[in-house]
Amino acid sequence: MTTPLTVVAPLLESLGLSPARPLVLIDVDEVLGLFMQGFGDYAATRGLEMRVDKFALFQNIYRPGESQHIDAVEGKALFDAFFAGHCDQMEPAPGAIDALNRLSDHAEILILSNAPAPAERLRTNWLRKHGLAHPLILNTGPKGPIAAGLVAQTMHPTAFVDDLLGNLDSVAEHSPTTATFQHVADLRLRPHAPASERHPRIDDWAQLGEAIEVAVRR
Ligand SMILES: [Mg+2]
Repeated sequence: MTTPLTVVAPLLESLGLSPARPLVLIDVDEVLGLFMQGFGDYAATRGLEMRVDKFALFQNIYRPGESQHIDAVEGKALFDAFFAGHCDQMEPAPGAIDALNRLSDHAEILILSNAPAPAERLRTNWLRKHGLAHPLILNTGPKGPIAAGLVAQTMHPTAFVDDLLGNLDSVAEHSPTTATFQHVADLRLRPHAPASERHPRIDDWAQLGEAIEVAVRR
């Protein structure tokens, strides 16, 4: 017999969230924030350019005039530097803040981001700068295990939003009662982002906010 891997999720109440209301888990990069744009702007300060022609990250970053993208090692270094020092520079996704403010009348909101640990302070500052007082959890790896640990603490409906099918599938598997939604904020990325019938894809935040509200009021 194998022992299932257990992820210890923080207590909702320790995060300032009430288990007596619905719970909505929201990703940051390409959901609440225009990550590709912010990361591309940072890459430009390092003499690089982003060409969004596929659903990828480092493979979209080039030296000007070159046709071969930068390699994974250089990409990872750029990525880490962005999160350690510059990830508070990106813009919110259009409509996201209004939608969250509306949703917070009906649900508790928890920001669940797979950013590297050094990003915690800047990412928190970024949320506060945009008037979002919701707690932030930085996660590593698929989001299903921690989502299941959080969702298990409430009897109320729950929802989860992410741009990546891997995270959406993971949450659907570990927490089957949670409503899952895919959102891809960057206009250039949308045509390249794979979708799945398993998770409604709603790229307009006003519509997404309404759909989440319906899901958590059921
Ligand atoms: Mg994301």
